Amino acid sequence: MRIDIMTLFPQMCEVVMNESIIGRAQKKGVLTVRCHQIREYTDNRQKQVDDYPYGGGMGLVMYAQPIDACFRAVCEQAGTRPHLIYLTPQAPVLTQERAKELAQLPNLCLLCGHYEGVDERVLEALVDETLSIGDYVLTGGELPALVLADCVARLVPGVLSDEACFTEESHYSGLLEYPQYTRPAVWQGREVPPELLSGHHAHIARWRREQSLKRTLQRRPDLLEKAEREGLLTELDHRFLQTLSDKEKQENCGKSEDEAEP
Ligand code: SAM
Repeated sequence: MRIDIMTLFPQMCEVVMNESIIGRAQKKGVLTVRCHQIREYTDNRQKQVDDYPYGGGMGLVMYAQPIDACFRAVCEQAGTRPHLIYLTPQAPVLTQERAKELAQLPNLCLLCGHYEGVDERVLEALVDETLSIGDYVLTGGELPALVLADCVARLVPGVLSDEACFTEESHYSGLLEYPQYTRPAVWQGREVPPELLSGHHAHIARWRREQSLKRTLQRRPDLLEKAEREGLLTELDHRFLQTLSDKEKQENCGKSEDEAEP
């Protein structure tokens, strides 16, 4: 997969995309990320990229012209017209489901707005899809673009060592993931659940499924209801959920009531 990011702060995006798992995936050749400085495509000598909004008001609005020219250059470099996504708080919120679909595409291009946003006409002319990362406002589209790029890229075959790295995770199958533990088996008097030390694969799998159900019920009951509506719960799952006490259903993450400081 190739991801192009159009931004006024390409270095900010490069630093993140060249690190860790995504950076290694690029070195392996399973992923290409290219960041483009929109300012380089302005047709004015001052390299100005924004101006006051028509009708007055606060802030500056990004010009249409350099974005259009930058996207043309991206199409040429990529040898195709990528699916263009504009990151904006005025859009449906990114979900794991949408990320899975986007990971099937060979090319993506992400447009980062800044200041008050972007001249609406270039969005109408070019953008295929708009996505938000949540119902709050950031100063620019770089962090949202990086969130989207990371979330999609890790689903591309070869980026993670094994498919199970993401198929067993929160949201992939509609539930939250079970709790995880590593060595030592006892830390500050807290023991790893004995089921995980049993070495019995079927028992471990069942324990994990039950913890996943319990955790989703406690932390995101809306997701459990959705999983139920979509027929993702088995008879065994239903039976387990019925065994949970009212107290267990209401427990949440972090310290238990007994441990909480006064
Ligand atoms: N004036 C815009 C509005 O009220 O909808 C907000 C502009 S925001 C300060 C600047 C840029 O940050 C946007 O153009 C967008 O690219 C990005 N941005 C801010 N919050 C975002 C979010 N929650 N999701 C995606 N992009 C966001």
